[in-house]
Amino acid sequence: MMTERQRRFREQYRAAISRYYSGWVHIGVMYSAGIAGVWYCASQLQGARWEWLLLIPVLIGGNFVEWAMHKFVMHRLIDVFALRAIYDRHTRQHHQYFTDNDATIDTVREFRIVFFPWRVLIVLAVFGLLFGWIASVLINPNAGYIVFIGMIGHYMVYETFHFCCHVRDNWFVRNAPLINTIRRHHTAHHNMGIMMHVNMNLTFPIADWFLNTSDLKRGLLGHLFNGYSDTHVKPELKPVIARYRTSETQEKRVTLDGPQLSDDELRTLASAGSHV
Ligand SMILES: [Zn+2]
Ligand SMILES: [Zn+2]
Repeated sequence: MMTERQRRFREQYRAAISRYYSGWVHIGVMYSAGIAGVWYCASQLQGARWEWLLLIPVLIGGNFVEWAMHKFVMHRLIDVFALRAIYDRHTRQHHQYFTDNDATIDTVREFRIVFFPWRVLIVLAVFGLLFGWIASVLINPNAGYIVFIGMIGHYMVYETFHFCCHVRDNWFVRNAPLINTIRRHHTAHHNMGIMMHVNMNLTFPIADWFLNTSDLKRGLLGHLFNGYSDTHVKPELKPVIARYRTSETQEKRVTLDGPQLSDDELRTLASAGSHV
């Protein structure tokens, strides 16, 4: 059940969406540009073989970058223009709109609160060009194209998985392996009590497992294929999670900048290993 606080925020947010905004145009342009970029690079490959192995370091590195961006930019106020905008959009808007009480959307207009703005893809393409160019100089042109494909591909998986976290429950998101895992993982992240500390991955919870910032206590394979199960949630986190689902705690102790955790709660998060 959505709390009154969350309902109020949703109402204000929806009223402020420009009438020129179109959810279909937003994601249509994003996916078309991303797919076109990947397509173009794939068409330029000439007999690529072992170079495909470069996808492994690119995707594992990407997993940690995704974790770090979420943890240190999207959830930490850095008062520099572009970084502050990212923080505002994520902590002060996305996390108010969605909580673990209600983490789903009903309309296409709400794509605005789910997907990143276009400029994120543009910035990523600039970095993709840079790293791709470096790989092409150091190794060969195939390597350069594959690095670019890996980076843009990772971003498209990110957006798609995150979208699957915020649609209404359905057969597909409940049963598709990896997607059901991230859906539970990310919905748990939207709990107002643990949102600044726990479950920072949005694709595969590899960095969260490795750095022990996950709400689960289990191995890597268990993490990847956990699905909807709550069996392995760290018991010490459960009281904090339950407390911040209530309207009373949210009204009293949650601001737009996240929860005002007590020393006790901070100690609990630290002892759960989620203090990084
Ligand atoms: Zn989210
Ligand atoms: Zn977050």
